Amino acid sequence: MYGVPAPYQNLDPLDELIATILSQSTTNVNSQRAFESLKKRFPAWEQVRRARPATIAEAIKSGGLANVKSVVIKNILQEIKARCGTLDLSFLRSLGAAEALKFLTSLKGVGPKTARCVLLFACDLPVFPMDTHIFRIARRLEIIPQKCSDEQAHQLLAPLIPPHKHLSLHINLIHHGRRICHPRNPQCNRCCLLDYCPVGQQQEM
Ligand code: SF4
Repeated sequence: MYGVPAPYQNLDPLDELIATILSQSTTNVNSQRAFESLKKRFPAWEQVRRARPATIAEAIKSGGLANVKSVVIKNILQEIKARCGTLDLSFLRSLGAAEALKFLTSLKGVGPKTARCVLLFACDLPVFPMDTHIFRIARRLEIIPQKCSDEQAHQLLAPLIPPHKHLSLHINLIHHGRRICHPRNPQCNRCCLLDYCPVGQQQEM
């Protein structure tokens, strides 16, 4: 229905990590603006690591929650430098998905979705991040329980994703949530998943 999205190429894992943190609780446009402003003010991540949180916050203010995100970003950079000796996460590409996930989620402020976004988009590892649209669709299809934690939901869905479908399914389910399976008034009569969806079939009765 939505085609096969082009693969992501040449994203740097640390860039992707910081960009994903900046994308929390804001729009794509605002978070992209904040990321570009941060890179312009501090061309190297080492400069961000050494900067005061208030200076970082000033550079990312267009992304919202700047005071919180600036502290999270600085702490993550400090932690990576302390543990790896360098601000480079490209080693994640050669770890297995489970090990890479363990490393990223052990950084304070990096949750299950953020970690999986980095590994899927910048490391080409077979993990499946769930955003708000994917949660909603998975609940309506009764693939995950109505109530479960973010981590439990990720664990439940992961074994169901066919090999090599992680990226396309992630992107296309988000399209589906935005275009058809809206939070309110989903357009079930136009939905390609209707035959599999208890919520949709009830609405159609
Ligand atoms: S049938 Fe309706 S509720 Fe179910 S996935 Fe499709 S749009 Fe969403």
